[in-house]
Amino acid sequence: MALTGIQILKMLPKKNCGECDIPTCLAFAMKVAAGQAEIETCPYVSEEAKETIGEASAPPIRTIKLGSGEAAFTAGGETCLFRHEKRFENPTGIAILVSTGESDADVDGKIHRFNVMEFERVGVIMRANLIAVKDDGGDGAAFTALVTKVIDQAPKAAVILMSENVDNMKDAAAVCGDRTPLLFGATADNWQAMGELAKEVNCPLGVKGKNLDDLVEITENLVKAGVKDMIIDTGARTLRAAFEDNVVARRSAVKEKFKPLGFPTITLPCEMAAGDVMMEAMIASVLMAKYSGIVVLSDIQGDIIFPLFLEQLNIFTDPQRPMVVQEDIYPIGGPDENSPVMITCNFSLTYFIVSGEIEGSKVPSWLLIKDTEGLSVLTAWAAGKFGADLIAQFVNKSGIADKVKKHELIIPGYLATIKGELEEELPDWTITIGPREAGHLPAFLKEWSPEA
Ligand code: SF4
Repeated sequence: MALTGIQILKMLPKKNCGECDIPTCLAFAMKVAAGQAEIETCPYVSEEAKETIGEASAPPIRTIKLGSGEAAFTAGGETCLFRHEKRFENPTGIAILVSTGESDADVDGKIHRFNVMEFERVGVIMRANLIAVKDDGGDGAAFTALVTKVIDQAPKAAVILMSENVDNMKDAAAVCGDRTPLLFGATADNWQAMGELAKEVNCPLGVKGKNLDDLVEITENLVKAGVKDMIIDTGARTLRAAFEDNVVARRSAVKEKFKPLGFPTITLPCEMAAGDVMMEAMIASVLMAKYSGIVVLSDIQGDIIFPLFLEQLNIFTDPQRPMVVQEDIYPIGGPDENSPVMITCNFSLTYFIVSGEIEGSKVPSWLLIKDTEGLSVLTAWAAGKFGADLIAQFVNKSGIADKVKKHELIIPGYLATIKGELEEELPDWTITIGPREAGHLPAFLKEWSPEA
């Protein structure tokens, strides 16, 4: 049963010291109750209170962490059924399958594609997250060798070890070092030994049921045996069954607080499409939309993976927060000391439209992006986040003055009213009013001259 902020406050030390980065214990308690702060952030809270609050405020879908450093991946932590209710916390992990049954050339090709297929969009790096290594045939030495290759050659991959042989799994886990793989998996036949191994090597356990009922029985047994971190596979190998199982599992965990299904799910489109890569991608897209913590694909190709990345980006952004780009100086088209300097807000849509028009103009330029908390130009100005004083502060600290000879700042046409104020705040700069609409920037820039 979730605790209220007041109930949590009663268990806090009430020092109001702010060491949790929140000024008061009451505000901290409210954030913990809302799932926006971790109880561990308070250094003074007792272990007993930590346990009580941690348990009560834990998300219904357990948060599972794999990998480390650049290869870190987090699944689960979800608290709702629909994105608009709050937000989805952790994007579905996209995994690529390699197996001991494949040729070296095939495996090398997949690892290469995993490593190079990386795209940036609205400041977010999009790439596959995991490599699933399958023990195909039970040859322990071959399995360990393949896992070693993946660990060495794919430094950004979290690793899923797929074997039902406990000895092979143990050897493979040993070569993963601190990469914390998912041990996938435990079945009705081997769950005791796999559970012990997961505890021994301190790795999350992948649990495979033949169906939902079978899965529930295994996870209940594992929980009783002290295994806490699991990722579950309902055994479904058709789109319809996997979709239905994912919905049942999420609904049971979130609405009914049914703990045996309170774990992220892993689904395997690679086993559902009979080699049809387009069908595999379509299945993956449906299962990403409906609750898969991880989808495992047989391979990745640009034309297939890019739409999945975009879907991932769309579903897992927070609907309550606008997309932003980082406050910075953005060089566009290789600008130099004679290039124009423009400024706009950090609402990502604005950034991409403005930068696109500048790029299209073929006039190399400096674009200053000021943090306006994702608000658009006029809204930010009206909210006091894009006023002359703040713009001046940013321009002065950005270092743009050292990059250009002519100190002329082109501001959005919608900010024409702050020109005078900005000239007072930035006495060494000339303030020029740019066009209101980004679409008029190319013509404006073509007329702009550094000598003028
Ligand atoms: S660190 Fe702890 S004691 Fe200090 S304000 Fe935060 S919750 Fe209160």
